[in-house]
Amino acid sequence: MKKTDAVIIGAGPVGLFAIHQLGLKGLKAIVIDNLDRAGGQCIELYPDKPIYDIPAVPECTGEELTKNLLEQIKPFNTEFIFNERVEEVRQDKDKWIVKTNKNNEFSTPNIIIAGGVGSFEPRKLSLKEIEKFEGKSLFYAVKNKEELKNKKISIFGGGDSALDWALELSNLSKITLIHRRDEFRGAPHTLSEIKKLENEGKISIKTPCQLESVEGNESIKSISVKFDDGKVEKINTDIILSFFGLVMKLGPIADWGLNMDKKTIEVNSQNFETNKKGIFAIGDICNYPGKLKLILSGFHEAALASVDCFKRARPDEKYRFEFTTASKTIQERLGKK
Ligand SMILES: Cc1cc2nc3c(=O)[nH]c(=O)nc-3n(C[C@H](O)[C@H](O)[C@H](O)COP(=O)(O)OP(=O)(O)OC[C@H]3O[C@@H](n4cnc5c(N)ncnc54)[C@H](O)[C@@H]3O)c2cc1C
Repeated sequence: MKKTDAVIIGAGPVGLFAIHQLGLKGLKAIVIDNLDRAGGQCIELYPDKPIYDIPAVPECTGEELTKNLLEQIKPFNTEFIFNERVEEVRQDKDKWIVKTNKNNEFSTPNIIIAGGVGSFEPRKLSLKEIEKFEGKSLFYAVKNKEELKNKKISIFGGGDSALDWALELSNLSKITLIHRRDEFRGAPHTLSEIKKLENEGKISIKTPCQLESVEGNESIKSISVKFDDGKVEKINTDIILSFFGLVMKLGPIADWGLNMDKKTIEVNSQNFETNKKGIFAIGDICNYPGKLKLILSGFHEAALASVDCFKRARPDEKYRFEFTTASKTIQERLGKK
């Protein structure tokens, strides 16, 4: 079982800044996020929108903020574990054991929950019979493009993910793009590329229709889609890719015995510790009198929580407050000296 000074649950902006604050104090963190990349809401919900209230940054997009936060924590060589959801936390004497849905376990004196509004999860296809194919021939994200070579792929969705993957995979495989409306929401220039490929017979587009059934036992053989006029069409298919957007689920966090207020975790505003010693909650997921769900508030919460993380991880050392401008130790940790 891996040991670390702190496990951070959530790689949103606040989780990322927590890495920095722990790193300045010489603490190592492991960060776990259910998604396949860092950035949380900034990346998933508004990557291109400008943010105007990050101190000393007059304007930056969600994507730029994430990029800069990642740049700022580079010196700490932090281990990120993506595509895994933290399912369970349990006490082991003065430590906590953190377990993910892929059964990875970590031992740590400190857990920082920076889980925002909960884990982002793909909105799934509602057909019951399709569940058994999940992870084998039904995917809600593309992890390895090579596995999708020379296949018959049916892609569901009308947004950017569906269009981008239809275009990208059309070089490798036979693509059918299926959407329940005639209009697509994705970027017009991607759509016009796809229409061009459709005219050349390289991509097939089916609209307005929805998945009706899936045929196959061990693997998918074909699917049937039903058009709005009632007509049903069978499409030979090896792989289904479905991109119906993300839903946010508080998920397992609600079962960890923490004091909750609706979907947020109650903390004190001195060190942002929860009712469990060594479990801290920061960012959108925490709640205390006067809480503002802003990125800058999360940054402040990360700074204060990291001090108590230090005290728990290094009980024999005295915590010393230091400025980054003046501390040689901090500058060394940042690789500046
Ligand atoms: C459209 C929009 C515009 C906004 N504009 C601004 C603005 O201008 N200024 C501003 O300050 N704020 C703005 N916000 C709010 C800001 O985005 C949030 O305050 C911020 O993202 C909170 O950061 P966070 O790190 O706490 O959580 P999040 O960004 O929500 O990240 C949480 C991460 O935790 C992960 N996670 C949760 N549970 C688990 C689990 N059990 N296991 C593994 N991973 C888990 C999630 O997958 C997610 O990636 C805006 C929000 C939206 C939606």
